[in-house]
Amino acid sequence: MGNDSVVFDRAAAFYDRTRALAPATMDAVVARLARELAGRGPVLEPGVGTGRMALPLAAAGVDVTGLDLSEPMLCELVAKRDSQTRGAGGRVPLVRGDATRLPFPAGAFGGAYVVHLLHLVPGWAAAVAELLRVVRPGGVVLVEMGNTGGGVAKEINERFERATGIERRHPGLIAGPERLDVEMAAHGARLRLFEPVVEERTISPDRFIARLEDNVFSWTWALDDATRHRAGAEVRAWALERLGSLDRPQPATVTVAYRAYDLA
Ligand code: SAM
Repeated sequence: MGNDSVVFDRAAAFYDRTRALAPATMDAVVARLARELAGRGPVLEPGVGTGRMALPLAAAGVDVTGLDLSEPMLCELVAKRDSQTRGAGGRVPLVRGDATRLPFPAGAFGGAYVVHLLHLVPGWAAAVAELLRVVRPGGVVLVEMGNTGGGVAKEINERFERATGIERRHPGLIAGPERLDVEMAAHGARLRLFEPVVEERTISPDRFIARLEDNVFSWTWALDDATRHRAGAEVRAWALERLGSLDRPQPATVTVAYRAYDLA
């Protein structure tokens, strides 16, 4: 199952901390998505993970069904759902399955949204075709592809990547959102861009490099410990030279940019 997709079993316990947004950012994103999705009937999130987006959206009135290949991620979602909801959130039905072979009939959903998934799936074009099959005509598919942030975080990632010799960080869609636009257009879906939600924060270079060494991000999972630590040492030396300190906080911008595709 999974066609060599990157499955997040090993990340279940710490995943949410790797994607945390400030409450104001999260509120703005959830409000925008809920405005688009509530009232459309059942909505699918393939690659639902721990329900980072699905649980707040369900609480905001979206009728979300989640699907994921990772049982530990889904268990995390269930634990959060059962501790959080008690009347405040939605039920979020869950299915263990593959985004490239959705176990739903054509037109079963009024909408779908996909967050930080397509870069993990070699058969991402099949996943897109499946979404357009299970969302009924007139429905909408929202996609957020994620960003690694600009500034020092981007530089550190690139240095780390070069130092490890990784040729490609992810097996799926890495060509950028325009490639997705082309794929969607080929299926007759029309693009609408949402106003991005931007969060300014700071990062500690030292802590950021430590997270790369500690194998927190999926793109380093294929590396052995020695390679990651060797690369970490190299990047620390570069960062100290470049920034004068590994502890001084550095500005970082997180941009949450959704694309909407309206189905004919
Ligand atoms: N969408 C959630 C969010 O934004 O927090 C989780 C994103 S997480 C980076 C990616 C999730 O997609 C993981 O839970 C992983 O197991 C799942 N996944 C990867 N490939 C998949 C596939 N082919 N079908 C279903 N789920 C998949």
